Amino acid sequence: MGWPNLRKWPAVMGLGLIGLVVAVLVHFGWVRPNHAALQAPAAQVHPLPAALERWQDPQEQGDYFDQIKVTRVGYLVWSQFPVRVYTQPAPASLPLVQEKWPQAVDQAIQAWQAYFPLEVVTDPNQADITISAVDPTQRSQGRVRSAETRFKLYVDDQQRLSHRCTIQVRANQTETYIAAAVRHELGHALGIWGHSRLKTDALYFSQVRTPAPISARDMNTLKRVYQQPTRLGWPVQQSSDTSAPPAEP
Ligand SMILES: [Zn+2]
Repeated sequence: MGWPNLRKWPAVMGLGLIGLVVAVLVHFGWVRPNHAALQAPAAQVHPLPAALERWQDPQEQGDYFDQIKVTRVGYLVWSQFPVRVYTQPAPASLPLVQEKWPQAVDQAIQAWQAYFPLEVVTDPNQADITISAVDPTQRSQGRVRSAETRFKLYVDDQQRLSHRCTIQVRANQTETYIAAAVRHELGHALGIWGHSRLKTDALYFSQVRTPAPISARDMNTLKRVYQQPTRLGWPVQQSSDTSAPPAEP
């Protein structure tokens, strides 16, 4: 896994061209830093969302929290609920996919809605998470693996450091596989920024013949993620010294 040295980021860093800061988690991850005028807030823990507060696993099936990567903004935790999800229609170049695409995506969203406050929205501008189908034959779309999730940072109208996720899924798959791929990627988008080594988990690192539903281990992992500190959801600070010349030695 080509993970970058995320933990080496300094405690306070410039965010700068925030809308352009992008990280990608495919089944490998990378980040691209930017520098400039806004300072990231300190990482703090948000209150646990009620749905995750309610989640219990009396059988104690464990988790794979040790596989979760910390991004430069900390854990990818949402703090405004419900998280809004928009599904782009399948491209017109994929008539066969257009039929099964909405059903497959709905299936995946509903699976998570049983555990997490997600709202489907019809306005793409309202979306925290956007799910789109990629036609693998269209080269203009760029190279996409079977599925991938990216996030971008921005500052919301209340000056909070925020993120948006985009999920892209190759659409030349069966409805079952599309649903499984979206389910898996939604797990990343909700904060599980890493993979399980067990194929009985939805966040198993590889596609399998019989894709797993959301497991107790997935939920245990997600709940632990939401108990971790993050810079997301906290107000950014204007950096007072970004225009100052470098100090004399
Ligand atoms: Zn994945």
